[in-house]
Amino acid sequence: MTRKNLIAGNWKMNNTIGEAVVLAQEISYDFYRDWLELVDVAVCPPYVDLKPVVNVFEFDHLKVGVGAQNVYWEPKGAYTGEISIEMLREIGCEWCIVGHSERRGLFGETNEDVNKKVKALVDGGIKPIVCVGESLAVRDEGSYLEYVCAQVRAAFAGVDEAAAKSAVVAYEPIWAIGTGRTATPEQAEEVCAAVRATLAEIYADKTADAMRVLYGGSMNEGNAALLLAEPDIDGGLIGGASLKAKSFIEIVKAAM
Ligand code: PEP
Repeated sequence: MTRKNLIAGNWKMNNTIGEAVVLAQEISYDFYRDWLELVDVAVCPPYVDLKPVVNVFEFDHLKVGVGAQNVYWEPKGAYTGEISIEMLREIGCEWCIVGHSERRGLFGETNEDVNKKVKALVDGGIKPIVCVGESLAVRDEGSYLEYVCAQVRAAFAGVDEAAAKSAVVAYEPIWAIGTGRTATPEQAEEVCAAVRATLAEIYADKTADAMRVLYGGSMNEGNAALLLAEPDIDGGLIGGASLKAKSFIEIVKAAM
C-alpha cells in the first residue's frame, strides 16, 4: 500500500498573530499547488493564530491544512481555559495534535486523557495526530517498543475502526525533540513499524496498512529525505524547522 506522506508543522507557543500570518504567507508564496497531489501538508499554530492562518490559506486557495495543538473532549461548559472541538471545527481546523510529550510531561496529560481526546476528535470530524514516544531513560533501559506500543493501545482503546482511519500516529522520541539529536532512520523505522504492527493487532491489517505513522524529533531539511525513505515512516511532525518557511518547504519537497 502506498500511503501519501503528511508533513505537519508544530509551531508550539511561537508566533503572535502578525508573525503567524507572515509565516503562513511565506509558506504559501513558495508553494506549488501541484505538490498537494503528492503530499499532505498542515501547520499547527497556537489557538489565537488558527483563524488568521486559515484565512491566509483560504485567500490563496491553497489546501494546506490547519490544526490545533490541543483540545478538550467535553462539548461545552464550565472548563475555564479549554477549547472545544466544535470551536476548532467552526474556524476551519482539520487536524489536532494530541498527547504531545510536552503536554504529557509539562501539563500532566495521561494516556486516558489522550484516549478521550482521540475519541472526541474522531466523533467530531477532526483528524487527530496522536503523539507517542519514549524518554531517554526508557530507551536506555531497552523497553521502548513496549512503552510506545502501550501508548498506542491506550490512545486507540474503544476507537472504532472506521473512525481510527482518520487518525495518524506520530512517533516522537522525547530525547530527539528540540535537541538536535535526531533518531537514525533505522531507529525511527524500528519503532514506526512496531506502531503499525500494534495498529494491526487492534484493527484489520488493511486498516493498519492504510494509517499513516509519522516521525518527529529534530527533523529538518538535511535529514528528512533519509527518514522519509523508510517504509513505515509516512511523513513528519516538525517543530523547530517548521518555523522557517524555507526549511519547512524543503521538508515538504523531500516528502514528495
Ligand atoms: C515536536 O515538538 O513535535 C518536534 C518534533 O519538535 P522538533 O522538530 O523541534 O524536535
